[in-house]
Amino acid sequence: MRLVKLLANLGYGSRKEMQMAIRNGWVTDRDGNRLKADAKTAHEDIRFDDEPLDPDQGVVILMNKPLGYTCSTKDQGRLVYDLLPDRFRMRKPPLSTIGRLDKETSGALLFTDDGTFLHKVISPKSEVPKVYEVTLDRPLKGDEAALFASGEMMLESEDKPLKPAELEVLGDTSARLTLHEGRYHQVRRMFAATGNHVTELSRSRIGLLSVDGLEAGSWKILSEEDKALIF
Ligand code: URA
Repeated sequence: MRLVKLLANLGYGSRKEMQMAIRNGWVTDRDGNRLKADAKTAHEDIRFDDEPLDPDQGVVILMNKPLGYTCSTKDQGRLVYDLLPDRFRMRKPPLSTIGRLDKETSGALLFTDDGTFLHKVISPKSEVPKVYEVTLDRPLKGDEAALFASGEMMLESEDKPLKPAELEVLGDTSARLTLHEGRYHQVRRMFAATGNHVTELSRSRIGLLSVDGLEAGSWKILSEEDKALIF
């Protein structure tokens, strides 16, 4: 039964369907030998329909989120979860995003089923740097970098100043902003507080983990080396 539960938890189907899959011989070892429900075969040696199994619990996924998708699990419209294989939505424990990006923000978005990992990334104590590429409506005035770095900037209806953030000016209306926390609509609100307006926003990196090489809408399962780049 261990195999039935494992496959059902990975979202391949219901327990009943997995019993059937085993009976039909769709679950094998790497040499194509049919596995029985009580097989003790190592995870990496199991094949479902000739394909290696998805990783067991503790998976971390990096997606290059496209514009126009929301991070919610049940909003109407396009959801980031729709970009993952259907079975990923059936996993137990479920996958959730690590923090969120606005519907109109693109770039690096992490998913995991590992609560400890999730908290480590979003914990204010970890101060994981998140790097945003920003395009603005109006030219920068020149005093934004000092304000953002001050550690004294207050956002409307908040009672705690923002942690120092680094602004790299790339052009009159373009900049790279590195944050060490994640407040609601933080980048847009920071620029709004300077009288400007963000017209395009993309998160290029979380720690040293970047979305370079990932097409918009595509994703990859992170290796241990990839995960280590975050902290
Ligand atoms: N800051 C924002 O304003 N929006 C995001 O999606 C992320 C950071």
